[in-house]
Amino acid sequence: MAACPVCDAEVEIAADTVVGELMSCDDCGCELEVTALDPATLAEAPEAGEDWGQ
Ligand SMILES: [Zn+2]
Repeated sequence: MAACPVCDAEVEIAADTVVGELMSCDDCGCELEVTALDPATLAEAPEAGEDWGQ
């Protein structure tokens, strides 16, 4: 489990999660990015819908 940086709710981290994976917080619905795994750390993901350098 890791804490949501937005609302501080606990977010479940799957065993096969990798750094950089995106997930959403069930509590506040924010997009979160996994920034570390030991310990599991979440950061607010950048706004969706942007073009990634294309
Ligand atoms: Zn949240």
